[in-house]
Amino acid sequence: MLTNPLTKNIGAEDAAPDLEAYRNNDGYRGWLRALKMPPEDLIDLVQKAGLRGRGGAGFNTGLKWSFVPKDRQAHPIRYLVCNADEMEPGTFKDRLLMERDPHLLLEGMAIAAHAIGATSAYIFIRGEYHLATQRLETAIAELNDAGLLAPETTGADQTLRIYLHRSSGNYICGEETALLNALEGKRAIPRAKPPYPQVSGLWGRPTVVNNVETLCNLPHLLLHGADWYRKLGHGEDAGTKLFGASGKVNNPGLWELPMGTTVREIIEQHAGGLKAGLTLRGFLPGGGSTDFLGPEHLDLPMDYDAIGKAGSRLGTGTITVLDEATCPVGLVLNLTRFFARESCGWCTPCRDGLPWVVEILQRIESGAGEIDDLELLRQHTSRMGPGNTFCALAPGAAEPIQSALKLFEQDFIDHIRGGSCPFH
Ligand code: NAD
Repeated sequence: MLTNPLTKNIGAEDAAPDLEAYRNNDGYRGWLRALKMPPEDLIDLVQKAGLRGRGGAGFNTGLKWSFVPKDRQAHPIRYLVCNADEMEPGTFKDRLLMERDPHLLLEGMAIAAHAIGATSAYIFIRGEYHLATQRLETAIAELNDAGLLAPETTGADQTLRIYLHRSSGNYICGEETALLNALEGKRAIPRAKPPYPQVSGLWGRPTVVNNVETLCNLPHLLLHGADWYRKLGHGEDAGTKLFGASGKVNNPGLWELPMGTTVREIIEQHAGGLKAGLTLRGFLPGGGSTDFLGPEHLDLPMDYDAIGKAGSRLGTGTITVLDEATCPVGLVLNLTRFFARESCGWCTPCRDGLPWVVEILQRIESGAGEIDDLELLRQHTSRMGPGNTFCALAPGAAEPIQSALKLFEQDFIDHIRGGSCPFH
C-alpha cells in the first residue's frame, strides 16, 4: 500500500512530471472519483479522514469546507484560494511540492473546487518562488490545453479556471485575509474575523483558503479512502506530512513521514543528528513563530495535540534545531528582526511593539542590557498575545521570545552581567 502519497512522484532528479507522466501514474484519478460524489459526501469524507490544515494552524479541512453556505442559488459565486505564500522562517515544504509535482497540487485544487462549488481558483504564490511559478504555469497550460477542466469533464456549468498570482513579497500576505485583500488589489492588511472567509471572503463571496500541502493530500485520499488515510498516521493525527529540519544538523532537509513521527527520529535519523561535537539545547517544532521545546521533548510525536500539550505548536512541522554552541538570544533577535520588518503596521502592538522588542533584544545581545530589560520583554510580549491584534503575526512572534525567556533565562542574564555575548 502507498505510504508516501505526497512525494511518490518526486525522484532524485530535479524534474517534475508533465501531464502525461502524471496521468500515467494514477494522476487525476482521485479527482475523477471526487466528481462522481455529491459535494456534501466529499466534504464529509475529507472531514472524517481527519485531514488537518498543513499551513500551520491544523484546522480540520472538511470542517472548514462545511462552513461554505450550502445554498448555491443564494451564493452562486464561490472561490478557492491556494495559499502558496510560504514565508514562515525555516519552512520550505510547499516549494518542494510545487516545483516537483505541480499537477498534484492542481488535482487537489480541482477536488476542493468541486467540494465547495468554485469555478475560479487562485494560487497566491510567494514572489521569490520562480521555479515553482514556471512549473505551475506550464502545468496549468497543459490542463487547459487538454480541456480537462471543461464542463464536459467536470459536469459543472463553467470551466474551472485556475489563476496564478505572484505575491509582491511580504510575510503578512500569507495571512489568509491579508492575502484576500492583496488579491483584490488592496493593501495587504488582515481583516477582522469573523466573518471567516468561508462565509465572506474574496470580493465578499464565500471563499476557502487552503495551504499547498493540505491540497496535495487530497488526490490520494480520494483514491485510497479515509481509512487508508487515517492509518497513515502513527498516532492521533491522520496522514503523512513533510517534516523538515534545519540548524547545525548533518543532513538538513525534508522528509515525508507519518504524522506522529517522533522529534527524535526526525533529528537523529533523518537529519543525521547534530554536527560532531554539538549537543541539542532546544528546538522550534514548526517555524519561527512557535515556542521552543527542550531535549526532554525529543520523544514527543509530531502531532498537533501532543506538541500543543507540551507548550508549543506543530506549526509547519519544519524543525529549527538549537545547539549549545549557538546563542539563543541572537537566534531570537534574528527572528524578531524578521517579524518586526514584516509587520504590516495595522495594529499597534505589532507595529510599535515589535521594533521596541528588537531594540531591547539588541541591547541585551550586545551586552548593554540591564536586568530590568527581562521584565520589560515579558511585559511587551504579553501585550502582543492573541486577542490584542488582528492576526497571528505578533502573537506568533512573541512565542519564541517568551519561551526563550523561560528555557534560556540564564543566557539572557549572562549577556547582561558579562557585558557581551558569551558565544562570540
Ligand atoms: P487560525 O487558527 O486563525 O485559522 C486557521 C484556519 O482555520 C483559517 O483558514 C480559518 O479561516 C479557519 N478557522 C479557524 N477558526 C475558525 C472558525 N471558528 N470558524 C471557521 N473557520 C475557522 O490561524 P491563522 O491565523 O490562519 O494561521 C496561523 C498559522 O499560520 C500559525 O499556526 C502559523 O504557524 C502559520 N503560518 C504559516 C506560514 C507559512 O509560511 N506556511 C506563515 C505564517 C504563519
